[in-house]
Amino acid sequence: MQVTFLGTSSGVPTRNRNVSAIALRLPQRSELWLFDCGEGTQHQFLRSELRTSQIRKIFITHMHGDHIYGLPGLLASLGLAGNSSGIDLYGPHALKSYINGILQSSSSRISYPFQINSIENPHFENHVVFEDEDFMVRCTPLIHRVPAFAYRVDQKPRPGRFDLNKAKACNIPPGPNYSQLQLGKKVKLDDGRILNGKDFCGPPRAGKSFVYCTDTIFSKAAIELAQGADLLIHESTFAHQDLDMAYQRKHSTSTMAAQAALEACVGQLVLTHLSPRYAPGNPVSPNDLLKEAKEIFPNTLLAKDFLQINVEKPETVCDT
Ligand SMILES: [Zn+2]
Ligand SMILES: [Zn+2]
Repeated sequence: MQVTFLGTSSGVPTRNRNVSAIALRLPQRSELWLFDCGEGTQHQFLRSELRTSQIRKIFITHMHGDHIYGLPGLLASLGLAGNSSGIDLYGPHALKSYINGILQSSSSRISYPFQINSIENPHFENHVVFEDEDFMVRCTPLIHRVPAFAYRVDQKPRPGRFDLNKAKACNIPPGPNYSQLQLGKKVKLDDGRILNGKDFCGPPRAGKSFVYCTDTIFSKAAIELAQGADLLIHESTFAHQDLDMAYQRKHSTSTMAAQAALEACVGQLVLTHLSPRYAPGNPVSPNDLLKEAKEIFPNTLLAKDFLQINVEKPETVCDT
């Protein structure tokens, strides 16, 4: 699992930071899942090594413009390019009328398979929005000025590592049998032997997990959703000194984000959705927000546009 930040500013774009969007590259699949799609996200794709044609799912946190104004343009461009094999969209109830209204009033037609999945019950915690054999995506309501959701992606446990030497030592002919055994399945060889893949694999490997939490003020539900996640991406619109503004506008401070990471025992925290008021050169800079957060949760990074992070299992397990 690899995350690429395509926009890390809150409200409006700045010279160095576009508005919210994050691309998640999934292992063993040549597909991208996009989380939020602020204005200019398709331009950010052009400036990155990522390809919009690989987007298969788009998850929208809430209906504020800095998270959705890039969506109609991206969807239309994918249609014109003719290289999308389909998009599933997930988000708040109002997403459907927003997209359908824009498509209708601009006489646009989506020429690829396209589905809008509304999250209908905004008070439902740990709601499963998508699941297949490899991944599960859940969401939970946040505390913001409009209905907003945090999303969690869990990769399901994978079979243990295949012991190639043991397979060779048992004189198993290479070929399709190996791939079946690698999946832990039983196979019957031409010589009549029946082998169980589980005897050739190590212990199951835990899947990786990532949580995207924006926009919100400090939220217990978000902490519950993020429990034990390998990577938590949390909004950090304000510095601690601007706590009053955070309460007023229902956003987080750097210290709230760090406290959430600490209480959720996550492996790593990344701060994003930074207010343009902290541009470098101003009295408070993004590095000050990072410093504040690190005092509470040391394994914290500051997001910047085009930063890529591989989601990794932490070496030490949190014991608080
Ligand atoms: Zn926002
Ligand atoms: Zn918002």
